[in-house]
Amino acid sequence: MMFQGEEVKKDFPILNQVVNDEPLIYLDSAATSQKPTAVLTAIETYYKTANANVHRGVHTLAERATSQYEAARETVRVFIHAKETAEVLFTRGATTSLNWVAKSYGEANVNEGDEIVISYMEHHSNIVPWQQLARKKKATLKYIELTKDGQLDLTSAKEQITNKTKIVALTHVSNVLGSINPIAELTQLAHSVGAVMVVDGAQAVPHMAVDVVKLDVDFYAFSGHKMLGPTGIGVLYGKRALLEAMEPVEYGGEMIDFVYDQESTWTELPWKFEAGTPNIAGAIGLAAAIDYLNQLGMEKIHAYEIELVTYLLPKLRAIPGLVVYGPTDDSIRTGVVTFNVDDLHPHDLATALDMQGIAVRAGHHCTQPLMRQLGASSTARASIYLYNTKDDCDSLVKAILAAKEFFN
Ligand code: PLP
Repeated sequence: MMFQGEEVKKDFPILNQVVNDEPLIYLDSAATSQKPTAVLTAIETYYKTANANVHRGVHTLAERATSQYEAARETVRVFIHAKETAEVLFTRGATTSLNWVAKSYGEANVNEGDEIVISYMEHHSNIVPWQQLARKKKATLKYIELTKDGQLDLTSAKEQITNKTKIVALTHVSNVLGSINPIAELTQLAHSVGAVMVVDGAQAVPHMAVDVVKLDVDFYAFSGHKMLGPTGIGVLYGKRALLEAMEPVEYGGEMIDFVYDQESTWTELPWKFEAGTPNIAGAIGLAAAIDYLNQLGMEKIHAYEIELVTYLLPKLRAIPGLVVYGPTDDSIRTGVVTFNVDDLHPHDLATALDMQGIAVRAGHHCTQPLMRQLGASSTARASIYLYNTKDDCDSLVKAILAAKEFFN
């Protein structure tokens, strides 16, 4: 059956509203996605029928909450094809996941003179933790260059990844360019020099099928809120052997085995990393989001987004003075479209679009090094998700033309 964006949209109550006298068209899903009724209901039902603290109580609600929380972990495991739930850690989001790897794995394994390799298309979340680690350990942070059309330059990757490299940390999909990186190939490259591969999957997991075992990555980070789930919940996947050898990042309740007067021992994976009361409702909401995505099918969702973006891009490129950044081959990208129009400031453009009911992002998108590479201080970004339609794309083009006219 054909994917029906128009039908999908009906599952998202927030999209059925008028903004500035126009029907809302939401094109900012790369920042955060909207939530279907199924997710809202799952969270409400949890609080109405099962709310209790997990892992601690023997009463019925505590058991209910614990089993729903752990079932959510199993849902995530199956979704990313991890081998066991011990390898699926709940975090606050991709940022926390990446910080945990830098702090725990990084501080134990990176030493003076070692190298950490990232790329020029990383989100600040996959730059700053490595800068801090490199600084602390007197290691060197190196960048893989990009090609002219905004893809990772594989020749540069081969040059930057050397015998000194201990960690390669790359995004799976760029939140600005929409480029999809060949993670399996890059992981092989990292492993060939004995480095671990850390992947920022924040913009990949919501949009395409991801198999962490097939990719053979060592760590994989993503956020619930970008994949129809709630904010405040995310995932860090890590290979068991690595996680076993790592120190927890936070200490307190839930993560201990024994607490003696002067020292403590840790409980087993994955709870060793989950100090304190976790975001139980968040995990349950994320599982409901995954169930919703699975029902539609990740392959179909990805294909639909490519269909929309290949519909939108030629129309955008036909607008005089509009520059689209990122891959020119529209079939190898996701639905993130970053652009500038004439010398119009992206914030003015975004405000003009908002006046027409259209939500897009303007700014540096937490990628200042990338902006410098692009020679732009900021850009506008429209990002498509499964609830968008060709009509939304047409409205965007029409609204940009109107804004151009207004400002010229
Ligand atoms: N990585 C990428 C590529 C992103 O797009 C984002 C969010 O915009 C993040 C990491 C950080 O995600 P969060 O803010 O949910 O931790």
